Amino acid sequence: MQRLCQCRRELAHEFTHAVTGKTAKFVYKNESGAVNEHFSDFFAVMIDTSDWLQSNPEGFRDLSDPTRSTRLSGWPAFPDHYDEVLTSSFDQGNVHFNGSILNKAAFMVGDTGTNTHPDSNIEVQGIGREKAEQIWFQALLSGSPSTGLQEMARLLVQSAQSLVGGGVLTQEEACEVQKAMLAVGLSELGCRCDEELECQLEGDFVVVVTDTPEITANGTTNQCL
Ligand SMILES: [Zn+2]
Repeated sequence: MQRLCQCRRELAHEFTHAVTGKTAKFVYKNESGAVNEHFSDFFAVMIDTSDWLQSNPEGFRDLSDPTRSTRLSGWPAFPDHYDEVLTSSFDQGNVHFNGSILNKAAFMVGDTGTNTHPDSNIEVQGIGREKAEQIWFQALLSGSPSTGLQEMARLLVQSAQSLVGGGVLTQEEACEVQKAMLAVGLSELGCRCDEELECQLEGDFVVVVTDTPEITANGTTNQCL
């Protein structure tokens, strides 16, 4: 019992699995399993504001920089961008590893500072944990057993956008969620940000300023996530 009391985040992680099991019911395998693990890591680090480390029996997973997470012998690197998503059958389809892609996005949204993803070079201004919690919880309720990483990214952006309508978020704050998903490679689709926000995209992405701002990616025009 003493150990349990010292590991509040481990308990929160496991408790969130129980909540997930009664709500979205993400299948615990491959990408939906990674989404499942991500939600448990996310709500575990939300129980206090000390840091972004999810403790576990092996050590910790670092949501702020997944590449710094504890790795035992034989483990693959923890990805922080969808270009690095793992596809082997290890760990039920790498559920504890691929969840780190959404973990990184969650950190970029939930932090209060400005963070630039080292791979995509996209900068995200964090909006704080309390607003992030609301976005993530609403997205969890929208999930389904087969929801994968990209679909969850879409649900999170959708959730943020709906919270703009409810007055919880500003449009600028919702835009940061979209930028975070772009930063970790979980979307190359369009942007609902206001014209002046421009999403700060680079490379293959081009901001098209119209009455309804859009972004074209590799010649394909997309309205939004
Ligand atoms: Zn777990």
